[in-house]
Amino acid sequence: MAAFLEARPAMYAAFSAVEKASKERLYGCQMCGQCELPTAGYACPMTCPKQLRNGPCGGVSSDGRCEVHPDVRCVWVLAYERAEAAGRRGDFALLQQPVDHREQGRSSWINYWQGRDATMAVDAGVQIPLSATGGAVSS
Ligand code: SF4
Repeated sequence: MAAFLEARPAMYAAFSAVEKASKERLYGCQMCGQCELPTAGYACPMTCPKQLRNGPCGGVSSDGRCEVHPDVRCVWVLAYERAEAAGRRGDFALLQQPVDHREQGRSSWINYWQGRDATMAVDAGVQIPLSATGGAVSS
């Protein structure tokens, strides 16, 4: 189906518009084309003002506020809390490859089905010993 849509620009555009409309509303998706939602607690890292895809910058406050927009919680704090609640803390051991901006505006669903983002996240062997609140976490 992905190849079928890619071969038909009008249908591809319509499909991408549906993806954009649904994910923009739910996650603030900016159509980077390489979706990290499943390994980031379904918090879109592209909503970070610095568009960091491997965790927060050093400017996040101790109570989890964004350095750039202090009225907003850091998306990576949200991502960690959601992943932890879902028992997916191990996702944070994955190292996300740099985003390829040539994919901006393209469908991440189609890219996924085509296997183009299969190597986007690699196991970096990182241990995540603390909870988001700073307490020790049992494994
Ligand atoms: S496709 Fe990119 S911008 Fe859209 S939700 Fe996924 S990570 Fe965020």
